[in-house]
Amino acid sequence: MAARAQPLETQLASATGDPVRVLVVGAGVAGMAVAQLLRRQGWHPVVVDRARDDRAAGYMLALMPMVDPLIDDLDARDRYLDASVELGRYRFRSHTGREMRTDSMAGVVDRYGDYRGISRSSLQDVLWANGGDVTFQTTVAALEERPEGVRVTLRNGEVESDHEFDLVIVADGIRSTTRDLVPGSGPLDVVDTRWGGWVAWVDAEDDDEPDLGDEIWGAGFFLGTYPVQGRIGAFLGGPAEDLQSGPREFVRKVRGRLRTTSPRVERALAAVAAEPDPYYWPLDDVRTARWTTARTVLLGDAAAGFLPTAGIGAGMAMESAWVLARMLAHAPEVDLAALLAEYERIQKPRVEAAQSNSRALARLMFRRSRTLAVVREWAARALSVTAALGPIVRLLQDPPDPERAVAAARVRAEG
Ligand SMILES: Cc1cc2nc3c(=O)[nH]c(=O)nc-3n(C[C@H](O)[C@H](O)[C@H](O)COP(=O)(O)OP(=O)(O)OC[C@H]3O[C@@H](n4cnc5c(N)ncnc54)[C@H](O)[C@@H]3O)c2cc1C
Repeated sequence: MAARAQPLETQLASATGDPVRVLVVGAGVAGMAVAQLLRRQGWHPVVVDRARDDRAAGYMLALMPMVDPLIDDLDARDRYLDASVELGRYRFRSHTGREMRTDSMAGVVDRYGDYRGISRSSLQDVLWANGGDVTFQTTVAALEERPEGVRVTLRNGEVESDHEFDLVIVADGIRSTTRDLVPGSGPLDVVDTRWGGWVAWVDAEDDDEPDLGDEIWGAGFFLGTYPVQGRIGAFLGGPAEDLQSGPREFVRKVRGRLRTTSPRVERALAAVAAEPDPYYWPLDDVRTARWTTARTVLLGDAAAGFLPTAGIGAGMAMESAWVLARMLAHAPEVDLAALLAEYERIQKPRVEAAQSNSRALARLMFRRSRTLAVVREWAARALSVTAALGPIVRLLQDPPDPERAVAAARVRAEG
């Protein structure tokens, strides 16, 4: 099911009797996840999104086991499994396309939960299966926080209107403009790799090894292919200056550098080359200095936007949405500012550890040098995918405990 587009007035009217009147800015992965969890506890968060409708750019997501508690709290496990595929193996190829190693993901998944491939639109369907209201084409024009509430000016087309909320959840993605309106979120710490890439879809074929993520770490390019239901998502990246000549020309250069190829690699390259205007993703990230004030909280990529290298941004956004929603359930009886401060204290270091893992992998992956590529390939003989994702595996070993954080918030509020 898609999100139900609702006029703002309808959402506002439903929210009037709520114990905590919540505005969620951004109906992406994080915003919709937290809104749906709050709805399940009987609240009516008002959700707005800048987009025209719920069909944002389509791309593939690999989701690690930290999303499982959220999926379970939404009673969505069967839907999630039906809409996704198991990612059981990962293949690393050399800069010339030669297969170097194929690792089982069992070390990551067996002990901690599922590792699944899903398209962003299918994930939206999973999150929205019980319906969910969104007012589209709406942004925050101004935000003023006071002790008794947050006054928000919403802009819908040409029309601006002022509203009062108890809490504003800012979840408008890596290029959030709303966070600029929140005092204290800057200065931003940005890593810009000066690489970018295109995403394209390939229809799955019988010999495609549907449980396999496959990556070529080239010298001056990167090609990853990742299965979802019935399709393979392809990502072809390179230095931004080299991509200016367009997908067709860049694919031609990449083909010239490959000595070994496979039907899947060939089809992925052909799909990128055939797209006149493929979805372009600049490979940069962002980290904010603070996530919360007494009545606002940055969530998902708006708080910490990820490089794609560890495939973990959506996973951490969903984990954060789950922790936040679990903690907010206590807002009627525990001071909101104390809950938010505790949420930030436990969740920010976790998310930043995953983000640092992605940054470290980016320093290895996004390189032009052939010499470095050869050294990297030697190192890869000894380094399994589980070892490369060590900091993330440690997060899975030590999951967050929202109830303990609520207890700490009570103490904080009393002291
Ligand atoms: C190509 C690609 C591949 C990826 N692969 C993976 C992967 O394999 N695994 C993984 O875990 N993560 C992956 N990620 C990262 C993941 O998609 C993000 O971390 C995740 O979507 C973050 O969720 P979010 O809700 O914070 O932001 P988003 O999902 O980006 O949602 C932001 C929402 O805010 C809306 N919005 C924007 N500006 C405004 C505004 N001013 N006002 C109101 N609304 C606004 C947008 O329309 C959008 O709906 C990938 C990302 C990309 C681009």
